[in-house]
Amino acid sequence: MRLLVTGGAGYVGSVCSHVLVEAGHEVTVLDDLSTGNRGAVPEQAKLVVGDIDDSADEVLAGGDFDGVLHFAARSLVGESVEKPDVYWHHNFVSTLKLLDAMRAHGVNSLVFSSTAATYGEPAEVPITEDFPTAPTNPYGATKLAIDHLITSYAAAFGLGATSLRYFNVAGAHGAVGESREVETHLIPLVLQVALGQREKIFIFGDDYPTEDGTAVRDYIHIRDLADAHLLALTTNEPGRHRIFNLGSGDGYSVRQVIETCREVTGHPIPAEVAPRRAGDPAVLVASSERIKEELGWNPTRTDLPRIVADAWAFTKDLDAAAYRAGKA
Ligand code: UDP
Repeated sequence: MRLLVTGGAGYVGSVCSHVLVEAGHEVTVLDDLSTGNRGAVPEQAKLVVGDIDDSADEVLAGGDFDGVLHFAARSLVGESVEKPDVYWHHNFVSTLKLLDAMRAHGVNSLVFSSTAATYGEPAEVPITEDFPTAPTNPYGATKLAIDHLITSYAAAFGLGATSLRYFNVAGAHGAVGESREVETHLIPLVLQVALGQREKIFIFGDDYPTEDGTAVRDYIHIRDLADAHLLALTTNEPGRHRIFNLGSGDGYSVRQVIETCREVTGHPIPAEVAPRRAGDPAVLVASSERIKEELGWNPTRTDLPRIVADAWAFTKDLDAAAYRAGKA
């Protein structure tokens, strides 16, 4: 298939682009490189540097595309609270423009990168797709609004779409992985301590109602996540919008993650308890039964040591500046 991947230089978008290319698809990446890495884009893909507002219509007009995988977004919860205008423009308004451009140029298949943040603080776990959606920050709200947008475009205009609600994505796909100028995620930060780039890791809260008092998350391997995108793409049906959760189904506490990183890296990784981070739910664990049943998704890299080992293999040899600039 001929595919447009927005945000294909970012972490999830770039790994998915590689997996799509490896599966024989023809990929065009549209990315403004504001947070992505040029070196993460597959060599076989065409890279268009630009944002959706300015470039999506033009790219889709000239491409004869079979589908779009839409990853481009702002995704920092804290920043979204400070700058909701930026999030509504970059996430919601840009996606509206993308969908209109797809419609104008007869591109009828979409896979959308959604998030567990659409559910907010759940009453219980595991979280199924039937849980109420009540985002606790503008980031989650923009992603939920986009899901509603897609549902209405599917019903009215025949778009075939799948939204994938990610839980905590981690790990790497060989030489493609997680590297951001501004890092806020637990596993990459812990690995920076192991590399000596940070003195210690702060544990945000140890007074949660969990076994060891630290927050529990569901970590999913980026490669399993990418497989789900391929399955979604190849089973999209015109006029139908499907929503699936993507997680491993196991919960690990912050302390368990740090301990696993110690085992994998052999580094003592000093940790210090700090106050809770605003807006963090205590426990987020996915039920991914629906995508397993409906699409036959079969994640095979679900154990945390495997996920961390792949992240570590990528991180420990990384020249972040070269990765960003695209110089091998
Ligand atoms: N966390 C932490 N220290 C850090 C970064 C994250 O204790 O330096 C915690 C965070 O509060 C959350 C969990 O680790 O409970 C996962 O956070 P992350 O930002 O990786 O993902 P999120 O669950 O927020 O999407």
